[in-house]
Amino acid sequence: GDENLIDGSAFVDAEDENRRKAVGVLAVVGRPNVGKSTLVNRILGRRAAVVEDTPGVTRDRVSYDAEWAGTDFKLVDTGGWEADVEGIDSAIASQAQIAVELADAVIFVVDGQTGLTQTDERIVRMLRSAGKPVTVAVNKIDDQISEYMAAEFWKLGLGEPYPISAMHGRGVGDLLDQAVNEMRHAEKTSGFLTPTHLRRVALVGRPNVGKSSLLNQLAHSERAVVNDLAGTTRDPVDEIVNIDGEDYLFIDTAGIKRRQHKLSGAEYYSSLRTQAAIERSELALVLFDASVPISDQDLKVMSTAVDAGRAVVLVFNKWDLMDEFDRQRMERLWKTEFDRVTWAQRVNLSAKTGWHTNRLSRAMTQALESWDKRIPTGKLNAFLGKIQAAHPHPVRGGKQPHILFATQASTRPPRFVIFATGFLEHGYRRFIERSLREEFGFEGSPIQISVNIRE
Ligand code: GDP
Ligand code: GDP
Repeated sequence: GDENLIDGSAFVDAEDENRRKAVGVLAVVGRPNVGKSTLVNRILGRRAAVVEDTPGVTRDRVSYDAEWAGTDFKLVDTGGWEADVEGIDSAIASQAQIAVELADAVIFVVDGQTGLTQTDERIVRMLRSAGKPVTVAVNKIDDQISEYMAAEFWKLGLGEPYPISAMHGRGVGDLLDQAVNEMRHAEKTSGFLTPTHLRRVALVGRPNVGKSSLLNQLAHSERAVVNDLAGTTRDPVDEIVNIDGEDYLFIDTAGIKRRQHKLSGAEYYSSLRTQAAIERSELALVLFDASVPISDQDLKVMSTAVDAGRAVVLVFNKWDLMDEFDRQRMERLWKTEFDRVTWAQRVNLSAKTGWHTNRLSRAMTQALESWDKRIPTGKLNAFLGKIQAAHPHPVRGGKQPHILFATQASTRPPRFVIFATGFLEHGYRRFIERSLREEFGFEGSPIQISVNIRE
C-alpha cells in the first residue's frame, strides 16, 4: 500500500513543475439554516462539511478544494459557526463579511420556503458594499411547482435568483455554472490573484504577536505598493512588499491590519483568515511573541503551515524585550516544542525597532529554494543505495525490508516516493529524512516521503 509518512503531513497529489497555480475562491454565505452546509456537501459530492456542525463549536476546516466543469476552486463554507443569540444579526453579517472579503465570488443562499428576512437584508447590504459578484441561490425549492417562489428574490437587486434544492441537487448545476463563471471573470479582472509571478507570502501568527508591526516595518524601508483595485470600494487585500530588492506579494494584509480581537468568535475569524492566507501562499512567515510563553494557538498556526506543505520561516518577535533569562527559556523551548520543525530557519528580530529584520530575506529565499528543489533520480538512488548499505533496515520476523528505488515525484514541497520490499519502520523513515536533509539541504521546507510496498 501507499501510505503517508513523515510528520503526518497531508499527502499531496502529484503536482507538475509549474508554480502551484492560484485558484479562485468561492464563498457560500447566508443566515443559519438556509442550507449552506447542505449545499457545500452537494458541491463537494461527499458528506464532509457538516461533521462537527454543533452550534458554538468552531471547526478547523473552513475551505475545501472543489471542482466544477473543469475549473478548480476553493469553496469557503461558513455554515458551521453559530453566533451568540445576542447580537446574532451583526455577528452573522460580519462573519459572512470575512468570507466575502476572502472570496472572488459569492453564492448567497436564502430560504425559499421562509421567504426574505431582515437578516437576509442585512447580509445583502454588506454584499453590495463588498462589490463582489453574487449569485443568489433560493434553496428548498424541492419541486418544479414551487419554482415561482424564487421570483420574490428578484427584488434583492442581485440579479437572477436561482431556485435550487440543495438536498436533492435540483438546479445546483445551473447555479454553479453561473457562480463559477462569475468567479473566473472576477479573477481575471479584479487582480485579486495577480500578480502571479511574485512569490506569495502569508504573514501569520496569533493576535498581538506583531504582524501589523512587522508589515509596517518592512513596508517602511520601501513604501508598499498597494495592489489597488480600480473601481472597487473595498480594501486592498494583498500588498506588494519589497524586501532587500525583491518584491513579494503579502497575502491578506487587509486582514492583518484590521483588529477583530474583541469580536465574538474572534478566534474562528482569525483561524479562517490564517487558513485561507496559507492556502494562497507559497511561504509562511510564522510569527511568535518571544517575550511571552508560547501557546497552543501559536503552535497550531505553525502546524497549519507545515501540514499545508508550505515553505516556512519562523520569526521570534519582540526580541527587544528579552533579557538573558528569557533567551535561555526560548532556547529550551526551541529544543522541546519545535522539534518537528528543526529544518526551519529561525529569525529573532524586533518589529518595533527594526533590529534584524534585514535577516528575513535570506531566510525566505533559502526556504523557497528548498521548496522548489528537485533531486535528479540517479543522484537520489545513488545516495539512498549508499546510506542503505551503511545502515540497513533492521531484520524483522526473519525478513529485511529493502529499498528498491526512489524518485522525487513533485516539488513545492519536495515529495519523494520510495519503493521498498517491506514495511519501513518509523525510525528508519526518520533516518532517511534526516539523511536526505543532510545531503541535499531542504532548509526551510517540509519534505514528504511516502513508501510504496512491493511484496
Ligand atoms: P446552514 O445552517 O445554512 O448550513 O443549513 P443546513 O445545511 O444545516 O440546513 C438547515 C436545514 O435545512 C436542515 O434541516 C436541512 O436538512 C434543510 N435543508 C437544506 N437544504 C434543503 C433543501 O433543499 N430542501 C429542504 N426541504 N430542506 C433543506
Ligand atoms: P498583530 O495583532 O499580530 O498584528 O500585532 P501588532 O503588530 O498589532 O502588535 C501587538 C502589540 O505588540 C502592539 O502593541 C505593538 O506595538 C507591540 N509590538 C509589536 N512588535 C513589537 C516588538 O518587536 N517589540 C515590542 N516591544 N513590542 C512590539
